[in-house]
Amino acid sequence: MIKLTNVKVAVDDRTATETIIAAKLGVKAADITEYRILRKSLDARKKGSVCYVYSFAVCVKGESGILKKNLKNVSPYDDKVYTFPYQNLSSDTRPVIVGTGPAGLFCALMLARSGLKPIVYDRGESVDNRTHTVEKFRNTGELNINSNVQFGEGGAGTFSDGKLTCGVNDVRTPFVLKEFVMAGAPEEILYSSKPHVGTDYLKTVVKNIRKEIEALGGEVNFNSCLTDFEIDDGRLRAVEITDVLTGDMHTHKCSCMIAALGHSSRDTYELFMQKGIEMMKKPFSVGVRIEHKREYINLLQYKDNHLAETLPAADYKLSCHPGGRGVYTFCMCPGGEVVCGSSEEGGVVTNGMSYYARDMENSNSALLVSVYPEDTGEEILSGMYLQRDMESKAFEAGGGGYIAPCQRVGDFLAKRATTSPGDVKPSYLPGVRYTNLWEVLPEFVAESLRLALVELNDKMRGFCLDDALLTGVETRSSAPVRIVRDEYMCSSVKGIYPIGEGAGYAGGIMSAAMDGIKCAEIIAGMV
Ligand SMILES: Cc1cc2nc3c(=O)[nH]c(=O)nc-3n(C[C@H](O)[C@H](O)[C@H](O)COP(=O)(O)OP(=O)(O)OC[C@H]3O[C@@H](n4cnc5c(N)ncnc54)[C@H](O)[C@@H]3O)c2cc1C
Repeated sequence: MIKLTNVKVAVDDRTATETIIAAKLGVKAADITEYRILRKSLDARKKGSVCYVYSFAVCVKGESGILKKNLKNVSPYDDKVYTFPYQNLSSDTRPVIVGTGPAGLFCALMLARSGLKPIVYDRGESVDNRTHTVEKFRNTGELNINSNVQFGEGGAGTFSDGKLTCGVNDVRTPFVLKEFVMAGAPEEILYSSKPHVGTDYLKTVVKNIRKEIEALGGEVNFNSCLTDFEIDDGRLRAVEITDVLTGDMHTHKCSCMIAALGHSSRDTYELFMQKGIEMMKKPFSVGVRIEHKREYINLLQYKDNHLAETLPAADYKLSCHPGGRGVYTFCMCPGGEVVCGSSEEGGVVTNGMSYYARDMENSNSALLVSVYPEDTGEEILSGMYLQRDMESKAFEAGGGGYIAPCQRVGDFLAKRATTSPGDVKPSYLPGVRYTNLWEVLPEFVAESLRLALVELNDKMRGFCLDDALLTGVETRSSAPVRIVRDEYMCSSVKGIYPIGEGAGYAGGIMSAAMDGIKCAEIIAGMV
């Protein structure tokens, strides 16, 4: 096969793909026996020449002759495929995995396929029950502290935009994407430069992966919280699991626990501290969600009414360093909604999610300020306490019931309370209360956001729109700590393997899933 890159096709060009490829290779379309899209991206930088940019893998008659011509953007194609290196293993002891987020789920899947029949626990509910619980919360403001947007089957990413981008070039990346497709995600994620599946597909995907783990002899237990563990002579001996519905506890003797806890399991972080597991502070970020109308963002990005109506909901990614502190947009959800990501009573947390179609009225993004270890106290968990403090101030400002404080950008810049919305209507449920976020956010965060809004407007004219809404607080974008681990991914206690976002080694669905796979390689490799 050969690889053909940088093929630009105007967005309204309906020419058959074979014809386009044939023209680039200087062959007849009939000579192309097979082709596959490797990558498709949208280039909307120049008004009037918005186009898709493709890379293809092509099977064509006379490949070696074509390669000898040294055509621009043509090269031999080398399809590197990842395969998990272990199978048909058996062991008397079954690995325990805590957490069914992408890290725990992919670790469990690989171990199940290798024959090791993992036992998985998650404090939250199965995805179907969790969906009802989250829906009830959005309508009533009654929070279930064990099953919510952070906790439950599929982890924090289940109610998300399902962006499957990953900054690292790793052979496991296309592997994870293929697994998503096999579990029900749309095929286009295999080649899209910005793959996303939305919460609708994610729910199906995580359920199907869990079913495969169970079919292979693994066990997945919901409403089952890790509440303690026994260490003897520096080694894990047992875990204590509490049924969160009945309060019943059981002790499970085991020598291997993969802790895929996510960044929001604060009681478990405290447990790890008490048990003397080595942890360290790490930088993280806090801020607010910014929300504009989807059609407005489309117009800013595509600069053309027709394209704004016909092309997929536009995204953006902005950053600046006002006063030396990083401020950036994160987890942009085009055509999505602002959701409540609370998992503790009395704390309001914002985040964003969307459906595959990304066709809701607004587009939102986190607008985050970097927090460095020296910004918080001496204690290892001081970053977590800062997050919690901000969340409870937001709860108070909302007046209870997980109503979130909200302010128009124009009012935020003028430091005056908002009294009613302008053109942009908030999507956050259970609802918002208009207020002054300067009274909620730490001064350094509010001031950094103020400076950044002005600066970011120079990068994307119109971003700093008076009527855009800021809803807060966004505190759970990353873990405030790292659980120290050695080159074999083991913590300071033998047999405990901290993985994924909560352990401080991943940021997002893809990197968490890959961390889970890497850990499975290590666990299976020791059998
Ligand atoms: C609303 C939202 C939208 C997001 N959007 C995106 C996106 O579009 N793209 C992207 O890449 N990332 C997104 N993220 C981030 C992404 O979800 C996380 O990076 C990812 O889920 C981390 O995976 P993880 O497996 O490490 O942890 P998590 O997904 O957080 O999973 C941890 C699991 O552990 C369980 N658990 C915790 N403590 C215990 C315990 N003591 N006992 C038993 N179980 C326990 C929890 O219930 C949870 O299911 C989003 C996050 C949120 C909240």
